[in-house]
Amino acid sequence: MTKVKSRTVFVPPRRGRGTVDDPLSASGVRFTPQRRQVYEVLLSKRDHPTAEEVYLRAKSRMPEISLATVYNCLDTLVRASLVKQVNLNRTAARFCPNMNHHSHFHCDQCAEVFDIDGDAGTRRTAGRLPRGFKLRHLEMSLHGLCPTCAAKRQ
Ligand SMILES: [Zn+2]
Ligand SMILES: [Zn+2]
Repeated sequence: MTKVKSRTVFVPPRRGRGTVDDPLSASGVRFTPQRRQVYEVLLSKRDHPTAEEVYLRAKSRMPEISLATVYNCLDTLVRASLVKQVNLNRTAARFCPNMNHHSHFHCDQCAEVFDIDGDAGTRRTAGRLPRGFKLRHLEMSLHGLCPTCAAKRQ
């Protein structure tokens, strides 16, 4: 298979009912070419890459970008609530552009991270907090086997 070289066109994710707007400009963040590139990398393959993986992917399209710049861009995107930083035990932080309520399922076998939609489980957990605690943020990570790895085990 030959690789077709094409210019990557920035396609902003859909928001609301059929309206397409650019979350980068809507966020009020000044989107430098580097920030846009980093954001595009995250949107184009939603496999929760680490900063270094983002760097390698961004570099293939923008050879002059540095790892420090990628870290800065990721930081800005996280603070602008365009990207979530995902911390799973003892591994480098990963980045996720899915801002809908979801949990992360970490496969112990292939180390892939999957988005699990919905927050029923997390809401129930929050309801069990002892009196006096006020929850501001909750992140649940699930660990086990993804469907592919589970099937291989059988
Ligand atoms: Zn797996
Ligand atoms: Zn995610």
